[in-house]
Amino acid sequence: MLPAAVLEKAQQEMLDWRDSGMSVMEMSHRGPEYTSIAKQAEADLRELMAIPDDYAVLFLQGGASSQFSMIPMNLLRGKTKADYFNTGAWSKKAISEAKKFCDVNIVTDSSDNNCTTIADKSTWQFSENAAYVHYTVNETIHGLEFDDIPDTGDIPLVADLSSTILSRPIDVSRFGLIYAGAQKNIGPAGLCIVIVKRDLLGHTLDKTPTMFDYQVHADNGSMYNTPATYSWYLSGLVFDWVKQQGGLAAMAETNDRKQRKLYDAIDNSQLYQNPVDAKYRSWMNVPFTLTDSSLETQFLTESKAAGLLTLKGHKTVGGMRASIYNAMPESGVDALIAFMSEFEKQHSK
Ligand SMILES: *Cc1c(COP(=O)(O)O)cnc(C)c1O
Repeated sequence: MLPAAVLEKAQQEMLDWRDSGMSVMEMSHRGPEYTSIAKQAEADLRELMAIPDDYAVLFLQGGASSQFSMIPMNLLRGKTKADYFNTGAWSKKAISEAKKFCDVNIVTDSSDNNCTTIADKSTWQFSENAAYVHYTVNETIHGLEFDDIPDTGDIPLVADLSSTILSRPIDVSRFGLIYAGAQKNIGPAGLCIVIVKRDLLGHTLDKTPTMFDYQVHADNGSMYNTPATYSWYLSGLVFDWVKQQGGLAAMAETNDRKQRKLYDAIDNSQLYQNPVDAKYRSWMNVPFTLTDSSLETQFLTESKAAGLLTLKGHKTVGGMRASIYNAMPESGVDALIAFMSEFEKQHSK
């Protein structure tokens, strides 16, 4: 979802952005109008996340998936090993890409438990000379989210924040690099945000393509080539909206209430189940199954008819998934819970 207020604002500004005589889509990315849009969006994101000045904020393309290869290309810095947490499908993709560039040591592996929990940190195996440690903060498909930031000492920590960025405050200074595809919790597809500590830049592997070098994008204000201008603009409207909601502390308060009541409804029912360890349940993505799986198709048809959309689980895990990102109002979660309760009543024997 995107906030209705953001879509309405985009609609008002669609044909003529602030008397410029142009739509944002028609602007030169180097013109003064677009420059002001881009700068404001970055300033608002920096303010929201309290991003320190020694971090570059990049607005890139190629999705979070391109970061799976850009990270080793840029951050190995002469080393041959990197540490990766394997907590789900997105970790796995990041790992298989990293293996093309270096030795990968797995810190802990949640595939042993179907990605329903994360083993205790006393069992984690870090290597001594890793160039960096990578983890997926929220596994979007499995609904598995870290409750804490792993402590990696002096080794730069790299985090895929795609499906949890802006959902609650996070201490950026603990990270070497954060990345997030915009399309989950920020704006439309086409944009990937990278927040990287500047002192890590400038050590790419030999023959790294120019477009895959963070330093090039940092030196050029993410305009080495034409950026995804409209996605960047719309993300800026979302940053402004989050500020108006009271920033990340306020988002966290609402998101916490939303997730709590949905998991409570699932746990207190006979029909619905979520397999994830309560400590690691995602605030943003709530997968659930029906104890009577023959009712799943009917659940999806009837929920859709009731205006509750995109509840089908990811094709690799099946079942249902409620993604309750920032823009999903609490009333949307209430409507889902009411529907689930009514559906259960109708189908209890
Ligand atoms: C969606 C997602 C990705 C992939 O994003 P793309 O922009 O489609 O490449 C990577 N990591 C996580 C955690 C995701 O949720």
